[in-house]
Amino acid sequence: MGYRFMNGTDNLLRFVRKLGMDAKATITSLTRAVAMAAPDYHIARLEIDLSEVPAFLPNAKTRLMTLYEAPNPPEENGEALLQRFHVTREGEILVSIYPGLTPWTETEKDELVIFSHICFFYFGRIRFADVVEKSAFTQYLSGLPNAGGYISRVMPIVAQRRITEYDAYYFNLRSFGLISRRYGAGIGDQVIQKYAEILRVFRAEDEVIGHLGGDNFVALIRKENSPAFLEMLSGISVTVPSKNGPVTVQLSAVAGGWHITDNQVEQSDLISMPGIALNIAKNVTHQSACFVTEEMVRRVSEEKQVMQLFPKALAMEEFMVYYQPKVDSRTNELTGAEGLVRWKHDGETISPGLFIPVLEREGEIEKLDLYVLRRVCEDLVAWQKAGLKPVQISVNISRKDLSDPGLASEIDVILSTYGIDRSLIQIEVTETTDETEHGKMTEFLNRLYEMNISTAIDDFGSGYSSLSTLRNFRIGTLKIDRSFINNEEFSKNDEIILTDIIHMAGQLGIGVITEGVERTDQLEFVNRVGCYVIQGFLYDRPLPRDEFEKRLENRKYEA
Ligand code: C2E
Ligand code: CA
Ligand code: CA
Repeated sequence: MGYRFMNGTDNLLRFVRKLGMDAKATITSLTRAVAMAAPDYHIARLEIDLSEVPAFLPNAKTRLMTLYEAPNPPEENGEALLQRFHVTREGEILVSIYPGLTPWTETEKDELVIFSHICFFYFGRIRFADVVEKSAFTQYLSGLPNAGGYISRVMPIVAQRRITEYDAYYFNLRSFGLISRRYGAGIGDQVIQKYAEILRVFRAEDEVIGHLGGDNFVALIRKENSPAFLEMLSGISVTVPSKNGPVTVQLSAVAGGWHITDNQVEQSDLISMPGIALNIAKNVTHQSACFVTEEMVRRVSEEKQVMQLFPKALAMEEFMVYYQPKVDSRTNELTGAEGLVRWKHDGETISPGLFIPVLEREGEIEKLDLYVLRRVCEDLVAWQKAGLKPVQISVNISRKDLSDPGLASEIDVILSTYGIDRSLIQIEVTETTDETEHGKMTEFLNRLYEMNISTAIDDFGSGYSSLSTLRNFRIGTLKIDRSFINNEEFSKNDEIILTDIIHMAGQLGIGVITEGVERTDQLEFVNRVGCYVIQGFLYDRPLPRDEFEKRLENRKYEA
């Protein structure tokens, strides 16, 4: 009957997580109840009465939450001894205890003990939170204001319409994780405490510095003090004692800032606005500080919108595939096309540059990529039915999709489902310099090779790993990046490199194509280095399906 208490603890853990550290119920009485129940009683049900804790679970449907229920509770025939334990001012634990039908087994008794220990442990933490709550506005480690404390100190300044005298910051310590890993969490904590001390000394009377936890700090600094503040963030050394002698670490922060220029400030902006800039400083500009701009704010809201609209857009088939022809410049014949996604939303066409990076970051891109593949398969089937001889269509697969080990099989299943001749589909992936990605990529490309599905390396030459790409990957085609032909003048170095790469590719049986060819001088250049298959505005832009069907009929371009 081992599962009984497992059920109980599971529910309990879920419950505790839901309430988090803020819950104030204590379990001592419950532990006592459990102990009392053994050995002669079965506990039929443990419930916690939340009727007086609406703040914790505003949406809870019932006021009683069951922590544990016996799998086969005896019928409630009046014999139950209902025990009510008043736990705190906020809640009660109800325990229904029934006389035992069968004596407890030894295992059950053991489990009971474990169960009560777990209860005690978790609710003990919650009791600890009670203590912390006394200083609800203070971060326990650093003693600086926490989020609540920070806001409650800043909002009066907003109310006095003095907030425009300040800049707001959100900052992290660079490689703080490294310090903790190297010297241990204890030293990490001390470093934070020392750092907080330095911040406190820096702070002027009417400024606010807060600690949100971990290495997340916020600050409201007078505009005239901003330069000195940033200077301090850029690097200070901190020394803390340890059992192996003093440890000195160099601390530099990455900061997001917000020049406040308007008195109309929402509470949530105080942290979110500099937070947007911090994100950019950390992940885009890789600088030590960055200030939020209107453009960044617009981007963030657009990205949010993308994620909100995406599931419905996919279901409503708002995504369309456009086809951009590939042409053999020697014969001017259509040889293939690339499927490129477009999002038709509210009568507007949204270009992939706007939503693909967001979907990649949020881990949703695979859904779109496989959707595009299915749509391409549908079109291929339709063209064949209509008697149009199709050409090979390439489909983009994001590198992020490679984290799905089943991706190659998934592609295989889709092609089989639609009965597509394997020679009609090509999979395009971009190069990678990342070690783990490289391994996954090799595996993915090998699987496709075994399945007889053609592959292309997209944007070839824009990364760093070009030679190893040729050596290690089994690929069908190199797609030369348009950066090679984008310059005003063609570089002699590029010409030499490209000629050699294209020659090597030829020897290895790998095809080449250049994309982004817009002008005849560019075409001449790529022809000179030995590439003849072209995808670019010189021949065609990406075309909606019905336009592209006309190309499938004609097959040939004017010379
Ligand atoms: P990409 O795979 O490198 O696609 C080529 C891009 O270059 C396309 O932009 C195309 O319209 C553009 N292009 C083609 N010829 C020329 C030219 O002569 N001049 C110029 N200036 N541009 C040209 P698009 O359609 O905006 O796509 C942008 C990127 O979005 C694609 O770059 C690809 O990385 C991504 N993408 C598009 N569709 C999908 C998809 O279904 N899945 C995934 N994962 N990514 C996609
Ligand atoms: Ca591509
Ligand atoms: Ca490309």
